[in-house]
Amino acid sequence: MERISHWVNNKVVKGTSGNTGKVFNPATGEQQAEVDLASVAEVDAVVAAAKTAFSTWRSSNLSKRAEVMFRMRELVDANRKELANIVSLEHGKVPSDAAGELARGLENLEFACGIPALLKGGYSEQASGGVDVYSIRQPLGVVAGITPFNFPAMVPMWMFANAIMCGNTFILKPSEKDPSASMFIADLLRQAGLPDGVFNVVHGDKVAVDRILNHPDIQAVSFVGSTPIAKYVYETGTKNGKRVQALGGAKNHMLVLPDADLDMAADAAVSAAYGSAGERCMAISVVLAVDTVADALIDKIKTRVPNIKVGPGTDPSSEMGPLISREHRDKVASYVTNAAAEGAKVVIDGTDKAKDQGFFLNPSLIDGVKPGMKCYDEEIFGPVLTVMRVSSYDEGLATINANQFGNGTAIFTRDGGVARQFQFDVQVGMVGINVPIPVPVSYYSFGGWKASLFGDQHMYGPEGVNFFTRGKVVTSRWPDPRTSSVNLGFPQNR
Ligand code: NAD
Repeated sequence: MERISHWVNNKVVKGTSGNTGKVFNPATGEQQAEVDLASVAEVDAVVAAAKTAFSTWRSSNLSKRAEVMFRMRELVDANRKELANIVSLEHGKVPSDAAGELARGLENLEFACGIPALLKGGYSEQASGGVDVYSIRQPLGVVAGITPFNFPAMVPMWMFANAIMCGNTFILKPSEKDPSASMFIADLLRQAGLPDGVFNVVHGDKVAVDRILNHPDIQAVSFVGSTPIAKYVYETGTKNGKRVQALGGAKNHMLVLPDADLDMAADAAVSAAYGSAGERCMAISVVLAVDTVADALIDKIKTRVPNIKVGPGTDPSSEMGPLISREHRDKVASYVTNAAAEGAKVVIDGTDKAKDQGFFLNPSLIDGVKPGMKCYDEEIFGPVLTVMRVSSYDEGLATINANQFGNGTAIFTRDGGVARQFQFDVQVGMVGINVPIPVPVSYYSFGGWKASLFGDQHMYGPEGVNFFTRGKVVTSRWPDPRTSSVNLGFPQNR
């Protein structure tokens, strides 16, 4: 059985805790590897390595850091196929979807290559007589990233690229369900010339996460995962004096107005709901259809769903793969099974597929959902699209704003004025106008509102640079001895 171990000082380090986790191939349902789960002492050893590396790395010049990141960008690009296959084998998403994940991850590496331009501070000459004031941004020290199973390559890239380009050293605690991508990335960083200890991987469960959250030498924690854990990570990390950004779960609504292009809206809803088996935090999980077009829209969605080819990533014709685990598949199926009892109408039931080998479900479509039903109130995170009928734009907007989550949303309309009003009023962090999955490009920042994000800095882009640096302001005078004198007044320039 393959064993996946930690990565410290540019080398694989075997775990010693005696605890391991099972890594499955979701397409067959069989265990394919075991992953070492770190003890407190093992986390401490990784932090010590990252701390030692920090003083040299933060002193390295910006062009040297950029040179490493440029090389890393080239290496990820050259190894895209292999990395996509690794992701597909452990996560289950089809290789073309994994390739999409890498393309978006590459954008973050490209952005990071240009970070020197964002680390320029401000300078004010002659703020007072002979006094100049300037600001600089400096790295925090050892920082950590804790990542979810659903983007095992891209989400780590959201974090480490900015963190190390800003001069920090980084510890990644990837999901224990699909840990291999992180090891492949670690080795590419080594090949790119990153010095020992600057990027490290520690595999683990709650034991490792808790040690990261209370370790005195870790300055900041960047987290992506489900809302209950995000909240816990934020509360625990900040209580221990750390800077924390913790992105949580989602329930993304797509509001379809009567003037929308219904074919375009149906294509978008199907792609955004069932792509990656719905295991995307930006997946559309609720279509809000204005009554007058609801039947027509549902008909269009209904005719498209059966064309989706569900199968393993090893079959090039597959468009949608399995879910991550048996437990998760069964939980997702339970939302569909319970929906009728809650008063909704199951238009397409994909749960029969659960009888197959592997963790598969077919896509499901549920009409007539309402707040109060489990399939509406909770994040499903699977290939289940629900439809809620609303009487008007106003009811649709109010529904979105009443939801506990605020990650992504989309409006489909031909009316620019309404779209603009929607963008103005909606209580959600990422908004699409006729775009169903509005993941921001890397030079903006990614993050939701409400229960989808704890903390005040979004992920990657300019806010990612802020998160991984802190400001310092220097007030300087090179005195002319002829004008020197004692002055006990508070410094001021009037
Ligand atoms: P998860 O919360 O179960 O796990 C995320 C990380 O937390 C993993 O590294 C895991 O090992 C760790 N963890 C799990 N349980 C823990 C515990 N009790 N104590 C401490 N650490 C713990 O999430 P997941 O199932 O891997 O990923 C899916 C979730 O992530 C979904 O809710 C999805 O919406 C969310 N997600 C959000 C975004 C976003 O940007 N907002 C992006 C991707 C995924």
